[in-house]
Amino acid sequence: MRYLIESYGCQLNMAEADAMDAILRGRGLERTDDGDKADVVIINTCSVRKTAENRIWGRLGYYSAIKKKHPLTLIVTGCMAERMKEELKEEAPFIDAVIGTNEKAEIPDYILSDSLDRLESYRFLPSYHKDGEWSSYVPIMNGCNNFCSYCIVPYVRGREVSRSVEDIINEICRLESDGVKEITLLGQNVNSYSAEYKGKHVDFPTLLEIITPYLDSIMFVRFESPHPKDFSDHLISVIAENDRIAKHIHLPMQSGSSRILSLMNRKTTRERFLSLVSEMKARIPSLTLSTDVMVGFPTETEEEYGETLSAMEEMGCTEAFMYYYNPREGTKAYSMDGQIDEDVKIKRLERLISEQLERQKRIKEKMVPFSAKAIVTGESRDDGSMYLARGEHNDYFVFSPLKEHRTGDVVTVTAEKLSGNTFRGHEHE
Ligand code: SF4
Repeated sequence: MRYLIESYGCQLNMAEADAMDAILRGRGLERTDDGDKADVVIINTCSVRKTAENRIWGRLGYYSAIKKKHPLTLIVTGCMAERMKEELKEEAPFIDAVIGTNEKAEIPDYILSDSLDRLESYRFLPSYHKDGEWSSYVPIMNGCNNFCSYCIVPYVRGREVSRSVEDIINEICRLESDGVKEITLLGQNVNSYSAEYKGKHVDFPTLLEIITPYLDSIMFVRFESPHPKDFSDHLISVIAENDRIAKHIHLPMQSGSSRILSLMNRKTTRERFLSLVSEMKARIPSLTLSTDVMVGFPTETEEEYGETLSAMEEMGCTEAFMYYYNPREGTKAYSMDGQIDEDVKIKRLERLISEQLERQKRIKEKMVPFSAKAIVTGESRDDGSMYLARGEHNDYFVFSPLKEHRTGDVVTVTAEKLSGNTFRGHEHE
């Protein structure tokens, strides 16, 4: 039996798709990338933006045409399946199964036995690593209790569930024995991690302390995403004191205006957010930051937009995920008065992006020259005698090597200059 998985959206979705892939292969099924040859197609959907859902409707049309040519089991899972279960069944009756996020782990059983256990809560899939890859996601929690007013996640992924410490340790040991060099601990809000281990309560910084003695080949531990309202003092110390935790933190800001943050239900203010940033910078000297930021939230004034621009300057990120507010049906912000015109939102976003691109160039140029550990990702595309590597700060290096390397080798490189968004330099003893 041949299967095809199409996955959209966040890293957790991608990790879950990899896990399903590993289980199906382990049970003797064959993967294909050709819809015409597949016996089973799993579409792992995303609901975060309307455009993502529109794309899925297009894909459904495509597979309905294939189904007319040959037998095909079509399964739709993920956040859109959770949010629009009934609508999907009605509008696209050719779908064989619409499976919500809690039952995603049951899909391999469903394919093989055609029956599905309805689960009360999310179950973590056992394997998230593709053979031969040097980087892996390790989901540690799922769901969210925060209900930011623009976000669909709490409605489609449900309440927070934390994976057990034992499970996480086992997964890390397995990844160690597979030679993985970098892991990213994943969760909608990793700072909400909460579990019992050896009779004690474990929060996120404690989890980091527990797992680090198990790290050998794993050089960098990353995590996404921490909510700023829960970023504790203890977490800053653990990052500062532990050389395996990458000193590049993704800290979502969303807006630089306290009034907009309150409307977004972010439970923080401009002042608290920026003072957290300055505390982190003071205690983690080599820290670089990335962020998520949104413009054009309902009622955002030009002044408040200006506060976002100035907060971005103060934060000084080396990368940022920038977007304009997109109303999502079912969220609180969807029905708020004062929706901003699309052309205003686009203008605001354009300026935000152009300032950020200049800023990150400036910050990176100032960093040169410097030496850092990096993981080889392959040969340079422009010059076969050079290699490409990704560093601790999520930055890319093109470097001349001291010897031959394979993908996944850990090297120390010295950056001599910045070219576009990539550092160029040489390998260092
Ligand atoms: S913290 Fe807010 S933005 Fe993040 S998943 Fe939860 S509700 Fe959505």
